[in-house]
Amino acid sequence: LGHLLKHYNFTVSQIKMDGYLNIDAGTINPYRHGEVFVLNDGTECDMDLGTYERFLDDNLNEYNYITAGKIYRIVLDKERRGEYLGRDVQVIPHVTGEIKYLIRTKAHEGPYDVVVVEVGGTVGDLENMHFIEAAREMLHEEGRDNVMFSHVTQVPYNESTGEQKSKPTQHSVRTLQQLGVQPDMVVCRSERALTDKVRQKISLYGTIPEQHVISSPDTDSIYKLPTLLDKQRVAQSVAESLKMYLPQSFDTARPFDSYIKHISRRNKKTIHIAITGKYTALHDSYVSIMNALEHSELREKVTVKLDWIDTSEYSDTHPIDGKALEGISGIIVPGGFGERGAEGKIRFVQHARENGIPFLGLCYGFQLAVVEFARNICGLDRANHTEVEPDTDTPVIYLLPDQRKLSGMGGTMRLGGQDVKIIRGTQAFGCYQKELSVERFRHRYEFNNEYKEVIEKHGLVFSGMTPDEDIMQIMEIPTHPFFMASQFHPELTSRPYHANPLFQEFVKAARLYSENAETVHNKEAVELG
Ligand code: GLN
Repeated sequence: LGHLLKHYNFTVSQIKMDGYLNIDAGTINPYRHGEVFVLNDGTECDMDLGTYERFLDDNLNEYNYITAGKIYRIVLDKERRGEYLGRDVQVIPHVTGEIKYLIRTKAHEGPYDVVVVEVGGTVGDLENMHFIEAAREMLHEEGRDNVMFSHVTQVPYNESTGEQKSKPTQHSVRTLQQLGVQPDMVVCRSERALTDKVRQKISLYGTIPEQHVISSPDTDSIYKLPTLLDKQRVAQSVAESLKMYLPQSFDTARPFDSYIKHISRRNKKTIHIAITGKYTALHDSYVSIMNALEHSELREKVTVKLDWIDTSEYSDTHPIDGKALEGISGIIVPGGFGERGAEGKIRFVQHARENGIPFLGLCYGFQLAVVEFARNICGLDRANHTEVEPDTDTPVIYLLPDQRKLSGMGGTMRLGGQDVKIIRGTQAFGCYQKELSVERFRHRYEFNNEYKEVIEKHGLVFSGMTPDEDIMQIMEIPTHPFFMASQFHPELTSRPYHANPLFQEFVKAARLYSENAETVHNKEAVELG
């Protein structure tokens, strides 16, 4: 919706409201909740903010992400400072007041024509009640021409009877109405497009005009959604509701046109990329990586398929089975925490390095790649990462100096957008084509510069670092076709029409690798006659 409104030249920002009492997403396990996204200002937030940034092509900040914890902290801090002047502090008006204040602050910040506010969770949850109440109050205070409600529901498909069920939607609309909110629009998530019968039913039971019952079926790419909504004239309906002028004859190009053309092209070449990590069971933990790969597909004209590898099965003794990596054209070792699976990841780094397979290390992947190089090339046999082995006598990766005095967990890492100086003449410079890039960080450990000389002497190049050259941020091995790793998370800044350069070049290297493998295969086939 945000993308679509922006497509029609409105200025738009998006807010996510989450009902949990965490101040931010920094302490939440990605295995339970999906990836922790990081904004430029260092806010650790829900992965939806990553989707917003990619769709709005904009950098968001802490005011785009509101948790119940954040609101309660503001209210309780005010109470302790005596700002309520002897009044009892209540959910209405104090908690709802802070929520409305933050929404209005965001609207003024742009200023934006539209702020799309997403309330997480399900209607009826105790957790998001105050957000829905704040929304109701907003309508009362700002008037019908300035506030509209769009309700997202699930329309299940019953396989055995072959019909879509409107019942859950009818019930949740009722629940919303009981809370004083009449939805102006219902967006129905479903496996397949909404049938007319179900659309009419939802319209009748929910008191919603039929053209405002929107079908949002599953798609093979999330980037097809704006066009899908556009065909149902969603922007026009929003503009009508909010009394905004939208020219009738508008550019006929649909949003994300070239993406959709790419996706629909037949017989595209597919390349397989392996990703190691302990969250392999929950793909949502790696959603930005999957997006960054998808963004890179466009230029290379390939489809990337990810193969997941759980490294906790691999150890010092468990050899890497060449078969497991058959048909693989690249290996990613992504970010992570803790020692579980670390040795296995190091084995995969080694496999990529020794076999000339394109490699991309992200944050933890950077750190473990340095450990691997120190051990197997520089002869520092016992080299390790102090997160894996706190007492190692060869700590090539250790705690950042300012992390040593910290005790708390939330919001204490080195976080957010930081400058990366890129060294001319390196592969990294070839990727970026510029000397400075702002990249996003989320880490506690870094490369220990005591080992810089010995590691560089053996052929590893640090091609990106802080402008004061103190913290190493990109590494590469120039003799390898593509072996690069970054202390930051390039996946967090990748956008649909400008993939992050490290991902873009990695996918290119993987494509070349797979073409080369094909040529060798064909040649062998010819020789064998
Ligand atoms: N655990 C590592 C650190 O804290 C890497 C973090 C990450 O991959 N985001 O430095």
